[in-house]
Amino acid sequence: MRSKIVAGNWKSNLLKSDAEVLAQNLCDAADSISNEVEVIIAPPFAYLGTLPRCEAVQLSSQNCSATAFGAYTGEVAAEMLVSMGVNITILGHSERRSYFGETDEVVAGKVKRALEGGLRVIFCCGEQLEERESGKHFDVVKAQVDKALFDLSSAQMQSIVIAYEPVWAIGTGKTASADQAQEMHAFIRGVLAEKFGSETADNTSILYGGSCKPSNADEIFAKPDVDGGLIGGASLKADDFLAIVQSRAK
Ligand code: PEP
Repeated sequence: MRSKIVAGNWKSNLLKSDAEVLAQNLCDAADSISNEVEVIIAPPFAYLGTLPRCEAVQLSSQNCSATAFGAYTGEVAAEMLVSMGVNITILGHSERRSYFGETDEVVAGKVKRALEGGLRVIFCCGEQLEERESGKHFDVVKAQVDKALFDLSSAQMQSIVIAYEPVWAIGTGKTASADQAQEMHAFIRGVLAEKFGSETADNTSILYGGSCKPSNADEIFAKPDVDGGLIGGASLKADDFLAIVQSRAK
């Protein structure tokens, strides 16, 4: 059975002291977190080693190198993250794709390396506004999934979580409707079923990301193919993030 997941992407936000307070606030509320929901936070790399930790909140990175150990100045390899107690990484986020030139091929290389190094992966995909407006959104998302994941085995797919994040909804306050999210999630599950079989497709968690907040989480999470959320802005306030976790627990 697939997991319900709520993951917070802190991006390049928060000074160390603020990050520590936020992580501590989440851990202080650990008793209120349903054990039916996997709760994950993805703080900046620089804080991963020193943040307050608790069993109820897993640590993710926001990125991971496509290279292993070696002379790769500035890169952070999967094994280094695992050795710090990080067990999952976000890859293919639209901000990495658009601001840092990460192509589908680069993302595919990172996915493989992260899995080899022992990480689970939250793989992000999603279309730009023009692509949706011109009716290309299904093709765009299918191509992203194909290029990053189709070389993997069904066993490797067990370590993959997919986050559907329409780029036009990220940080804009403009959310995809619950029906638009459901339509794309069901489509992605169909793409996975065609390639890997229905068991793998049914067991893969697919998260929605894009201006998800306490006021719209219930409606989005009520859809059968939406298994949780990747949360940006609303993950920076403990109360909002915890309210979204509660929505997913319902
Ligand atoms: C994100 O960046 O992954 C995201 C979903 O951001 P926001 O919730 O702020 O739209």
